[in-house]
Amino acid sequence: PARVGILTSGGDSQGMNAAVRAVVRTTLTLGGEAFAVHEGWAGAVAGGAQIRQLGWDDVAGVLHRGGTVLGTARCAEFRDRAGRRAAAGNLVRRGIDRLVVIGGDGSLRGAEELRREWPTLLDELVASGEVSGHDRLSHPRLRVAGLVGSIDNDMAGTEMTIGADSALHRICAALDGLRSTAASHQRTFVVEVMGRHCGYLALMAAVAGGADAALVPEAPPAEGWQDLLVRRLQASRAAGLRDLIVIVAEGAVDRLGRPVRSADVGTLLTERLGGEGSRVTVLGHVQRGGRPSAYDRWMPTLLGHAAAQEVLGDGDLPAVVVGVRSNRVTLTPLPEAVRAVDAVREAAEKGDFDVARAARGRSFAT
Ligand code: ADP
Repeated sequence: PARVGILTSGGDSQGMNAAVRAVVRTTLTLGGEAFAVHEGWAGAVAGGAQIRQLGWDDVAGVLHRGGTVLGTARCAEFRDRAGRRAAAGNLVRRGIDRLVVIGGDGSLRGAEELRREWPTLLDELVASGEVSGHDRLSHPRLRVAGLVGSIDNDMAGTEMTIGADSALHRICAALDGLRSTAASHQRTFVVEVMGRHCGYLALMAAVAGGADAALVPEAPPAEGWQDLLVRRLQASRAAGLRDLIVIVAEGAVDRLGRPVRSADVGTLLTERLGGEGSRVTVLGHVQRGGRPSAYDRWMPTLLGHAAAQEVLGDGDLPAVVVGVRSNRVTLTPLPEAVRAVDAVREAAEKGDFDVARAARGRSFAT
């Protein structure tokens, strides 16, 4: 039977377990065999007990659990060809030539590298006697499907990454919690949220949580933004609002590309707004923790199902990202998704924020 390896890699996110479960059970239903590769790419490089066959019941009771039951890690060795060579050897010796990788864009880039290099890596391993000629012949290519697991919603090929919805729920709960104390003291709260270079979490949290202002990387404020922000908050206060909330994305920058830090926004508002000043709350890793939302259970289940079907097919296809667009499961060639993300980053680095926004609009939720 065809053997499918499943791994979670890079930063963890809520809903990865739902994807793992769906991949395992779909694989078994379709007559394949499923193998966990523990601790991300590190498990592939290490081999041995880190690669373990999974049965139907091994993924029971994980749907509602946050994080990843397979473990995840960053793996410096896998960035080097020697590391990927070791990984290819460990996989092929176990008969695994199909992979479903659940991770961020780094993890998926690694998967595409491994897929491209697979035939030459195996030739080398045969030449050095580490892999048998029979193994080489019966596994001529690696089939790869990637699912994007990240709370940041920062990858092309899907409008929603696995975990982003749960992280938003967590942020909203925190905002609700801050509101009552903000109102009691007429304090302004500056809340820093995650998202790396993507403002999705900050923007959607601001809309869903009724924040008074948000600073996001895609819309860097022009010179003098501090005065504008202070005036706007003063007007809100004058209109009788007692609980003011400003959301700052961790990757927020100004028009010149300088970081806009939540601590500096806090100091600004304390100095200029008067009253009891402002307080800064950095939400940090709680955003990545806890139970997945309903959406982060059913969406990764559908994607995991599609990913297992995809890798169990035949033919020499490029690696694909299995994602959601317009509420449909869609496949995007992985190299295309990676190029789209790079284009957004390069545009932003050049200060071309309109292009960055447009590109994001194509790739992500608008
Ligand atoms: P994420 O997957 O969440 O974006 P990272 O960027 O840290 O997280 O990537 C996770 C792991 O994927 C890295 O530790 C490394 O093993 C592998 N990886 C990342 N980028 C590449 C790359 N360009 N080539 C090969 N492997 C990579």
